[in-house]
Amino acid sequence: MFLEPLSRGHRSGWIEVITGSMFSGKTEELIRRLRRTQFAHQSLVIYKPDRDTRYSVDKVMSHDENSLESIPVKKSENILEVPRDVQVVGIDEAQFFDMELPAVCEKLALSGIRVIVAGLDMDFKGRPFGPLPSLMAIAEYVTKVHAICPHCGNLATHSYRLSDETETIVLGEKDKYEPRCRVCYNMGKALDFRAMNNKKNGKDEKEN
Ligand SMILES: [Zn+2]
Repeated sequence: MFLEPLSRGHRSGWIEVITGSMFSGKTEELIRRLRRTQFAHQSLVIYKPDRDTRYSVDKVMSHDENSLESIPVKKSENILEVPRDVQVVGIDEAQFFDMELPAVCEKLALSGIRVIVAGLDMDFKGRPFGPLPSLMAIAEYVTKVHAICPHCGNLATHSYRLSDETETIVLGEKDKYEPRCRVCYNMGKALDFRAMNNKKNGKDEKEN
């Protein structure tokens, strides 16, 4: 589990990245870290891209509906309008931000802010996603979290798209994506058929 570094004396900022596939618990881990700063009475602001409206327009919300208030912004540079006294900035769904996000996070960290960023590392084709790879390179701390592959039980690193849409960004949940390990991800649709047959036989695919 991630433990915050001890900071003594003058305030200094840094960047943390929490990343992994869909259903890996990124947002839960972000919320866990942010709640601890709240308990310590540190001032905190959370941002997310305004296109992510799957659950709520002004909240960072995990799949289990644990939530914190957040500010939807259009561009990463809007995050620089953060109030002066803020000590911690949380950023969720960072993969949907523009490529200026790493530079924005660096400015925040240099001004003494602890920046905690959560986002997908790969898109549905297994390609590095948006600004996340650059953020991982410049961050002091990177935590990769994993889901569990429903087909084989290994650690899932990939987000497999169940639907046929081909655009990079298709918002959706369990109806559109499932986490898979590298091997099952590369088996692609072959595993979809197995799941479909199991459904036909009246078995829950999660049991297999
Ligand atoms: Zn697997």
